[in-house]
Amino acid sequence: MEIKEVRVPSIDIDAELCKGCVLCVTECPKGVIEMTDTINHMGYTVAKYIGEGCTGCAICFYACPEPSTIVVHKK
Ligand code: SF4
Ligand code: SF4
Repeated sequence: MEIKEVRVPSIDIDAELCKGCVLCVTECPKGVIEMTDTINHMGYTVAKYIGEGCTGCAICFYACPEPSTIVVHKK
């Protein structure tokens, strides 16, 4: 797993692993993940981080049923 030094918390979502279940979108307390119209190689529409507002709480990470899809970068 890549370890990255960051100034503000953020997440990365691997679009090719996402199954489009929307759980991260509904569970994020800050509302900073949204579904897109992008379709990955498996045919699922994918979620993405809007780019700001993440607190690094990792709720999305634990909500996601697909291991390794979401990486949380804490401060
Ligand atoms: S780490 Fe928390 S605040 Fe950041 S995107 Fe995930 S659920 Fe939302
Ligand atoms: S919870 Fe995981 S699989 Fe579901 S939409 Fe979010 S990133 Fe994709």
